[in-house]
Parts: sequence; structure tokens; C-alpha cells
Amino acid sequence: MQPELVLIRQDIHANPEVGMKEERTPALVAAKLKLWGITVTENVGVFGVVGTLKSNRPGTHSIALRADMDALQLTESTKLSYASRTPGAMHACGHDGHTAMLLGAAKYLAENRDTFYGTIYFIFQPAEESLSGAMVMIEDQLFERFPFDAIYGLHNDPNIPFGEFATRSGPFLAAADKWIVTFRGTGGHGALPHLATDINIVQAEYILSLQTIISRNTAPIDSGIISVGALESGSFTSINILPKEVHIGGITRTFLKETRNMIERRIKELAHGLAASFGCEAQVQYHRLVCALDNHAEQTVRAVKAAERVVGTTKVNPNMTRTTGSEDFSAFLERKPGAFMYIGNGTPTYQFHSPTYDFNDAIIPFGVAYWISLVQQELKE
Ligand SMILES: [Zn+2]
Ligand SMILES: [Zn+2]
Repeated sequence: MQPELVLIRQDIHANPEVGMKEERTPALVAAKLKLWGITVTENVGVFGVVGTLKSNRPGTHSIALRADMDALQLTESTKLSYASRTPGAMHACGHDGHTAMLLGAAKYLAENRDTFYGTIYFIFQPAEESLSGAMVMIEDQLFERFPFDAIYGLHNDPNIPFGEFATRSGPFLAAADKWIVTFRGTGGHGALPHLATDINIVQAEYILSLQTIISRNTAPIDSGIISVGALESGSFTSINILPKEVHIGGITRTFLKETRNMIERRIKELAHGLAASFGCEAQVQYHRLVCALDNHAEQTVRAVKAAERVVGTTKVNPNMTRTTGSEDFSAFLERKPGAFMYIGNGTPTYQFHSPTYDFNDAIIPFGVAYWISLVQQELKE
């Protein structure tokens, strides 16, 4: 089966599609699942595909396995024979490999329906990179239409040794939010600052005071990130003018709900407090993108056990360090039991989201075996 899966993986790699523009990839997935006798529901969350496979043994339990299908808006710089044929789109996060590994498991399990009991749902999700595809599928009644007991996710990681696995129970990946603050004043002449509100001073104060939210308001044993990524103020062709409007934009990352709530509240309080003390107005737009990925304790133990059955206890790390990256698999885990697992790509010189990244085809058998091990362990009767 391995050569077939490598061909599928490289075909998806050569034809990447960014989030909510996936057409060829879900069509390919649906065609393969149908070919192997799996019931297919297309257009779940517009571009998502769900394969339903029932055992030919009785059983009331069900499990969902999820892969993401989308690519990034990036131009590939590798010289691979199967490099992206689409400028500005590239599989630089290995979702091509996730799709191929889940297809491999689907094929094996469809051919071996007597090795488990109950129902498997193979979930192929669009638009993970924009952190929106999971919610779009959930809003399209994913849970009602495909009632599973628990859901599991698998992602490659270049920094984990080849073919090894790693995860952790509890908060694992961060919640991601973004915000834009606007300060509005009178504007005025740079030579007559006493007749104006100088909102550049407010902006400078604000950027510095933001970091006190992390250093003074966040519990020392917890963590959070506030990063300012964009500033817009004044004009270099008119530097004698004090601007009447400035914009500051940034992101936050947190692991705990309380910390996330606190940071949102303090970002607003500091903006309005500074505006009041400097005689201008503040407006805050705060958008919550995705919650923290919080692995359920029981399902994490089960995921670890399934991986250990494949590679042995020494090659599964059940206590991986938290990462400040985000994953919209968190949206499933906020509503259903489950666990998210990493598999080692073993390529630390190439990092995610870089134009040189490539999923390692040699880990496909490990990923497929993990999925099969998990199904057979969870759907035992
Ligand atoms: Zn990514
Ligand atoms: Zn990814």
C-alpha cells in the first residue's frame, strides 16, 4: 500500500489548495473512499468530506479520525519533482501527508471490516490554517450527522525524531486571538503640541504598557503572549503634522480560559484608561479566533497506548512541551472527548510554513499504523 499512498501524497503536494478553495483535494479523497467501498458525504462545511465505515460485526461505539487538507499561501522553493505547480500555494505544513495517512488507514480498515466493531468516521477538514474549517464543519451539523463518541487528530512535527510520537494531556496548543486598537485625537501642528492631543505618545505608552499584562497580570506559573505586529500613524511626507488617528494591531496567545479573558479585558482597559488620561478616544476590536487545544485526559492515555503498540514505549512522549502554535482541532475538543497527537517528521533543518518544507513520506506507515491501532483498540466490541 505504501507506494500508492506516496503517489497520493505527492499528487496532493503538487496540486495544493488553500483554505476554502479546496476542490480537487476533496474530490480526490471522495473518489478514493468510494473506490474502497466507504460511504462518502461531501460538502460538509462546504469543502469537507466525511467517510463512514461500519464494521461487519455488531457494535454501538464510534470514533472519528481527522485529517486537514489545506495548503498555505506560500511559493515553494524546493526543486522536488512533485513541487507545487501553483505559485502562491504550497503544502508547507504537511497536510498533504495527513490526508494520505488517513486515506491509508481508511483503505486498510475498509478491507478488514472484521478487525473492529461499530463505526468509524474519517473526517477530512478544509481550512485549518485559517483556524476556521473545524467550526464550519461543526456548524454544518457534523456532530448530529456523524455521532461519534470521541475524535482524534494527528499532525506531523519536524522537531520530533523520525517515526516517534508525542502529545500531552490538558492545555497543549494555545488559543489564538487578534485585535486592533485605534486612538483618535484632534491632530495638530508638530510645533504646537500644547494645542493638540499627541496620540503618538499614547501609542508609545500603550505598546509598553501592554507587556505589563503578561509581566504583572498573568500568574507567574501560567503564560501568555501579546505581540504587536502592525502600527499605522502619520506620514513621512508630512512629519510636522501630529496625526489624528493611530492604529495598533497584534495577536495574543494563551492556554487557560481565565488568562484569555483577563488579557482581553486588560487590552481594553489599558486602551480606554490611556485615552481618558491623555484626552483622546480609544476603540478596540478584539476577535477570538480559536480556543486553546485542551487534550482530554482519558483519550490522551488511549492515544498514547495506541501509539505505543506501534513503536514501543520509548518512542512515545506522553509529556510533550506545550507549544504556542494553534490548531483548530481545539474546536472539536471543546465539544467532544478526544486527543491530538504529533508524529515525528524527523527533519529539524526544515521548519513548518517555510518554502522548503516537505512531509516525510517514510513516516506514512507509522501514521497509518497509529490510526489502525487506535481504531482496533477503541472499537474492540
Ligand atoms: Zn500550519
Ligand atoms: Zn498544520
